[in-house]
Amino acid sequence: MTLLRARGVVRSYGLTPALRGVTMEVAEGEIVAVTGPSGCGKSTLLHCLAGILRPDAGEVHYGEHRIDTWSEAARSRLRRTEFGVLFQFGQIVPELTAAENVALPLLLAGTGRREARTAALTWLDRLGVADLADKRPGEMSGGQQQRCAVARALITEPRVLFADEPTGALDTLTGEQVLGQLIRVARDQRTTVLLVTHEPRIAAYADREIALRDGQLDQTGLGLGEPLTGRLR
Ligand code: ADP
Repeated sequence: MTLLRARGVVRSYGLTPALRGVTMEVAEGEIVAVTGPSGCGKSTLLHCLAGILRPDAGEVHYGEHRIDTWSEAARSRLRRTEFGVLFQFGQIVPELTAAENVALPLLLAGTGRREARTAALTWLDRLGVADLADKRPGEMSGGQQQRCAVARALITEPRVLFADEPTGALDTLTGEQVLGQLIRVARDQRTTVLLVTHEPRIAAYADREIALRDGQLDQTGLGLGEPLTGRLR
């Protein structure tokens, strides 16, 4: 079943075109990497699909709903209840412990403290950082902090996880480990994942790759992230 669909999505920032008519879809449970060089429109596409940005033209569908016409309040509610978002920086609150950070989305949704902490500990354990529960971000490595951010993005059990260069601030090895764990947990939970990355090695973890170039689907690589000529050689 198709869960997310962009149809002819166009988006500019002032006079700068970011998306020039992108049509793509993501099936439920699929892990899709959106790739392409810096500035090709990857983040803009993710923001449009997640209902953060509204396209200038075209349509965005989530399940049977067309969401780009929804009000900001309705899209914000959709994001809170159905989506998880994970970015490169600014994920976790420095004053809170790992467990408090991970529990935060549940506490904001009205879950009791004890129940939220228990869930946070379970999620920290799934990400292999249970021993950090009572540490603050200042006492953790970048990779450990990002594992907490992954746990926090998944604790509400979102149907879709939108991840924008989630390991972009980490070294290659740590980034791959964190991403490997993110994808393993997402597969266990049958979470649909839209993963923006400019690194082919990271994209290799996905089920499928959607390559962009200059705000459009890159047909030259047949969606495989490498130029056809390169593969024929
Ligand atoms: P990517 O994620 O592939 O790096 P983006 O979607 O961030 O690409 O950007 C696509 C284009 O839109 C680029 O030319 C970028 O400079 C421009 N752009 C992105 N965000 C803004 C913004 N907030 N204001 C102005 N231009 C922007």
